[in-house]
Amino acid sequence: MTRVRDVLLPAPGAKPLVDSFQRQISYLRLSVTDRCDLRCSYCMPERMTFLPRKDVLSLEELFQLSLGFIARGVRKIRVTGGEPLVRRDIIDLFRALGRKLGDGLDELALTTNATRLALHADELARAGVRRVNISLDTRDRARFEALSRRDALPQVLEGVAAAKAAGLKVKINTVALKGSNQEEIPDLVAWAHGEGFDLTLIEVMPLGEVEQDRVDHFLPLSEVRARLEQRWTLTPLGDTTGGPARYDRVRETGGRLGMITPLTNNFCAGCNRLRVTATGQLYPCLGGGERVDLRAALRSEEPEANLQAALDEAMRIKPERHHFDISRRGVAPAQPRHMSMTGG
Ligand code: SAM
Ligand code: SF4
Repeated sequence: MTRVRDVLLPAPGAKPLVDSFQRQISYLRLSVTDRCDLRCSYCMPERMTFLPRKDVLSLEELFQLSLGFIARGVRKIRVTGGEPLVRRDIIDLFRALGRKLGDGLDELALTTNATRLALHADELARAGVRRVNISLDTRDRARFEALSRRDALPQVLEGVAAAKAAGLKVKINTVALKGSNQEEIPDLVAWAHGEGFDLTLIEVMPLGEVEQDRVDHFLPLSEVRARLEQRWTLTPLGDTTGGPARYDRVRETGGRLGMITPLTNNFCAGCNRLRVTATGQLYPCLGGGERVDLRAALRSEEPEANLQAALDEAMRIKPERHHFDISRRGVAPAQPRHMSMTGG
């Protein structure tokens, strides 16, 4: 990536991002591609239509956007996708953003399926990444292949090990799926905690069309919790990252267990985040259709002013909460966008 001028840094004193419900935004989830080398069945169909490359922001544009957000008070950026590590030269963006650490940015993080993490873990750590969220729904090779439609578990586990060896703090994210990994969840928790990793369970969300009806796989985490409590002692931890997860300490393992329950327990009141797609569309809510076109702002004659105006508009329209409903069979997804587009 060519070195980018800090063209979008507004004058000192730029106003922070505060929405109409007085929530201050300090966290950006930035999708750098909608493409992926897996096809997790709850996330996307096998024959997924990806965005035309020309519509996707260049690495320079992604960096410029990030600078615009940092200047308005965003202190944490999580790079996500699609699968971020399939994007060519993505490490250049990490390096560029890493130079903003301590200069506006407090944290640079990544969410990945880890298929290519063994190749990049050291470079990421050198660029300033300290934490990585790794999505892993099963450690059983056949189940992994059935779920993700790719026989990639060995590479993923290599990626996990490489991240640990590089000194990255690993958190495992696991989507809880009825009739799939349901029975394996306690073993996954025991494994993750044994490795020194936190683990967060996620309820499947109705985002984008996939082949199956998600209602068939929806597993309320209240059920999972009851099951885990037969084996372990779970003590709620007060700390929250301003995000959707609620955490417990598992006394017997010593590890932390998070639960993200968008369907059974709304988490919007403390929401501190925004999401930007790889085409520069800002979605102030994962579950809502509201959107602001940052790419148009960025490619306009006056990118600085238009980007700032677009961010103000996002603050105006960020909804109070999402309205997911997965309870009824055959109902259209809450949003037509797949999670791989908005960025998980
Ligand atoms: N490819 C990377 C990965 O899998 O970590 C980053 C993007 S992926 C969309 C981010 C997270 O979203 C993953 O943990 C994945 O399990 C989760 N996810 C995808 N579709 C989902 C859905 N419909 N409901 C709940 N979680 C979903
Ligand atoms: Fe790819 Fe992540 Fe979606 Fe799985 S969850 S298909 S790894 S984007």
